[in-house]
Amino acid sequence: MEKYVKMLKDKGLKVTPQRLEILRYLDKNMTHPTAEIIFTELKETNPSLSLSTVYSTLNLLTKYDIVQPLTITEGEVRYDMKGKMHHHFLCKRCGTILDIDVTCPHLETMLNGEHRVEEVHGYLKGICSTCLERTGMKSNSEYESDTEIVKSDSELHEPPSLECADE
Ligand SMILES: [Zn+2]
Ligand SMILES: [Zn+2]
Repeated sequence: MEKYVKMLKDKGLKVTPQRLEILRYLDKNMTHPTAEIIFTELKETNPSLSLSTVYSTLNLLTKYDIVQPLTITEGEVRYDMKGKMHHHFLCKRCGTILDIDVTCPHLETMLNGEHRVEEVHGYLKGICSTCLERTGMKSNSEYESDTEIVKSDSELHEPPSLECADE
């Protein structure tokens, strides 16, 4: 818990049991849950927790850059610890969201440029390796892939670690 106490204190935020629980849940569960999922899971051990507390806590933690909301799936917001910058890959079949490291020299230029970049979201979508294996699909060519920032012809069998070509 020390770690989460520090995260809150560093931002000058009051340390409350709910905030600590939510931070710990997000840190331990890399599944990018919705507020409703966090609420349902934490409610079991914290009967006094309310959904509105979960919402307001997530909004606060977002405002203070501790967590980040993801809108990779339509019509819902998923939450993630902000931490080190990373992008996300959504499996359109099973709905899993995986963390992906993308190194891109163009992005570095932007980050060190004249604008102050506060958020970077890279959303990639396709079929995950587990689903490809399960269905015996060898490539993702039959499925249109709407990869949003990185167009890649390489197969997305592995949770990919992509590099942005510097031309
Ligand atoms: Zn999948
Ligand atoms: Zn993530």
